[in-house]
Amino acid sequence: MSRYEFEFTDNITYLKGVGPTRAKTLEKIKIFTMYDFLTYYPRSYEDWGKITPIGNLMNEESVVIVGTLTRPEKIITRSRLTIIRAQLYDGTGTITLNWFNQDYLMQKLSAGMRLVVIGKVKVNGLFGDPVMSQIKSFSILEPNEKPQLGIVPIYPLTGTLKQNFFRTAMQNLLNKMPPLTEILPRKILNDLNLIPLDEAARAIHFPADRLQLDAARRRLAFDELFLIKCGLMLIKRQAKDESLGIAHKKNGELVKKSLESLPFELTKDQQRTFKTVSKDMESKLPMRRLIQGDVGSGKTAVAMLALVKTVENGHQGAFMAPTEILAAQHYEKFTKLLNPLNIRVGLLSAKITASKKKRDEVYRQLAEHEIDILIGTHAMIQEGVNFHDLGLVVTDEQHRFGVSQRSSLEKKSASIPDMLVMTATPIPRTMVLTVYGDLDVSLIKELPPGRKPIKTFVRSVRAREKIYNFVREEILKGRQAYVVCPLIERSESEKMSYIDPATEMYEMLSNGIFRDVPCALLHGKMKAKEKDSVMEKFRAGETKLLVATTVVEVGVDVPNATVMVIENAERFGLAQLHQLRGRVGRGSENSYCILISDGKALHSKERLSAMERTNDGFKLADIDLKLRGPGEFFGEAQHGLPDLKIADVFRDVEILMTANDAAERYVTDDADLEYFADLKKNLALAYGDKFRQITEA
Ligand code: ADP
Ligand code: MG
Repeated sequence: MSRYEFEFTDNITYLKGVGPTRAKTLEKIKIFTMYDFLTYYPRSYEDWGKITPIGNLMNEESVVIVGTLTRPEKIITRSRLTIIRAQLYDGTGTITLNWFNQDYLMQKLSAGMRLVVIGKVKVNGLFGDPVMSQIKSFSILEPNEKPQLGIVPIYPLTGTLKQNFFRTAMQNLLNKMPPLTEILPRKILNDLNLIPLDEAARAIHFPADRLQLDAARRRLAFDELFLIKCGLMLIKRQAKDESLGIAHKKNGELVKKSLESLPFELTKDQQRTFKTVSKDMESKLPMRRLIQGDVGSGKTAVAMLALVKTVENGHQGAFMAPTEILAAQHYEKFTKLLNPLNIRVGLLSAKITASKKKRDEVYRQLAEHEIDILIGTHAMIQEGVNFHDLGLVVTDEQHRFGVSQRSSLEKKSASIPDMLVMTATPIPRTMVLTVYGDLDVSLIKELPPGRKPIKTFVRSVRAREKIYNFVREEILKGRQAYVVCPLIERSESEKMSYIDPATEMYEMLSNGIFRDVPCALLHGKMKAKEKDSVMEKFRAGETKLLVATTVVEVGVDVPNATVMVIENAERFGLAQLHQLRGRVGRGSENSYCILISDGKALHSKERLSAMERTNDGFKLADIDLKLRGPGEFFGEAQHGLPDLKIADVFRDVEILMTANDAAERYVTDDADLEYFADLKKNLALAYGDKFRQITEA
C-alpha cells in the first residue's frame, strides 16, 4: 500500500471534489486517471500579481481589480444589444462593468459577490467614473477565498465545469500527490539545465513566477520530445537488426538495362539518391529511408530502379500507392518499361480483389514468385497476401499510411525487407525529426530539366468568365485543363454559401461555355471502374476538360494538361494547392494555375498570394504551418504526429533540437536499451494509446 492517498493510475473519482457526474464530463476529454488530470495542462495563464485599487485606475489601463458587486441589471439598447451592467467597489472607489450580449450572466452574478476582474479601463474626462467594457475575464471568489496572487492557470473548459473547479481540484491533487520519480539521469538535467520533473509537474499548474513557469514548460516539453525521439530510435534500432536484413549485391546488368530504358537521363539528385539507396540495400542492415522530393522531382524513377535491384537479386518488390488511380498509372508505366526486360509486374487493387477468382490468382502468383514487382494500394496489406521472398517495400505518399500499416507490410516476410518511403509533402526539417525520426532522409531538390515554372494567379469570382475564356483558348490550342473544386456535392448546410461543388461546376461548364468541348467529371464517390475510364480518356487526350475534386491531387501525370483552375481555393491547404498545381507544368508548354477565391477566411489572401510568389513547396509549407498550424496543414488525415500535451513542434524548435541531440548523445549503446524499456513504460503511461501504437507497430 502506498503511504499516499492515491496512485497515478487510480480513477479520477477518488480525487476530492470529483464525483461521478464530474468524472463523466472529464471522461469526455479523456481524463480517466489521476495522471491524466495531472497532465491536463493550462491553456494559458493570467497574472493576478498586481491588483490595482479601483480609486487609482487610469484611462486605457489594462488591470486586475478585486471588489464586491452591486446588483446587476439588464439593459437593452436601441440597437437591440443587451448589456449586463453592475458596479464593483473596493473601498477606494467604484467602477462600472459592462458585459455585452451575455444574458446568461444575469443568473450567475448577484449582489455581494466578490470578483476578480481583468480588462481595460476607460475614464471619461477628468472627473468621470471608470468604466470597464472590455472585460477579458473574471472569476467569482468563494465567500472566504482570498484572491490568489501571482500567476493563475486558465484551463481549457469542458461541459459545465468551471475554472474554479479545475483550480481547486488540481490544488487538491498536488497536495496529496506523491513526489514524481525523476525519469532523466542527473547528468542530462545538469548539462541541459532542466528542472526536476516533480517541480515542473507542480509549477506548470501553479508557478511561483514567470521564470519558474518557463522552466517548467521547457522541462515538460523536453520530456515529451525526448521520449518520442527515444521511442523512434528504439524502433529504428530494432528494425536495423543485422541478422534479419538482406544484403543486396552491387548493381548489375538488369539495373543497367533498366536505366538505359528510361526515356531520360537521371538528374544529379536522382543519381545521388539512387546511389545512397543502393548502398543502403547492399548493407546487411535493413534500409529505412525516406525520399522527400517535390511533386514531379522524379522520385518514382528512383523507386523503380531500387525495385529492379531487388528483382536482380532474386527477391520480390512491392510498391504501395495511396490511390487506385496512382496504382494503375504506376502499373502501366512499370509494365511498359520492365516487361521487355522480362520483369513480371503485377497489380493488386480494389478492382482486382473485388473478384475472388482474380484475387486468388494474384495471391498464388505472388506466393509462387511468378510476380516480381507488385504494385497496389492498401489491398496489398490484407490478410492472405503472401510474398514468396520480399526484398524491398516502397510506399508512396507515406503520410497517408499510418506507421502501423507501413510495418505490417514488412511483417509479410521472414527477413526484414528494405524499406523506402517517398513523400512529396514538404515537411519542414524540424517536423521530419518527429514524424520520421525512425528513418534516414534523402532529399531530391532539383527538378528534371526543361520544366517551365508554372504561372500562378489569384483571381476573384468576378473574373470567372475571363478565366474560363482563357481556358477555352488553351483547349483550342490543343491543350487540356483541370478544374478542381473542394466538394463533390452541396451539403444541406452549404445551400446558400458561396461554394461550387464539382457536380454543379461540371453541369454549368459542360452545358455553358464548354458546350462544344469534351468534358468529364471525376470524384471520389464514383465507382473505381468509372474513375478509371474517365482518367483513361483524359490521359489519351479524348477528354479536354476535367472537372474534379482532389482525387487528381497526387501523382496524376498528363503532360499535355497546361491549365489548372482551382475553385474556392481558400478551402485548401497550401501544401495541397501546391500538389494540385504540380499536375500541370509536366510538358514543354507554358502552364498556368489560377486560384479563384473570394475567401474572407482568416489569412486566406496572405496564404494564396504566397502561391503566386513561390514554387518552392518547402517555403509554402512553412508559411502554411505558421499561419494555420499543423492540424489544418495536414487536414483531417492521420499525419503520424503524436498527440503532444505540451510541446509544440513549431514553436518549440529549440527544445526539439535539444531533445533530438540529447537522445543521440546520451542514448548511444546497447546498455541503454534497458533504459529505453523504462522510458517506453513511461511513455505508455504518459501518452497512452497514441504512443503504444508507435512503439508496438
Ligand atoms: P514524382 O514521383 O517525384 O512526383 P515522377 O517520378 O512521377 O515524379 O516524375 C515526374 C515526371 O517527370 C514523369 O513524367 C517522369 O517521367 C519525368 N521525369 C522523371 N525524372 C526525369 C528526368 N531525370 N528527366 C526528365 N524527366 C524526368
Ligand atoms: Mg539491405
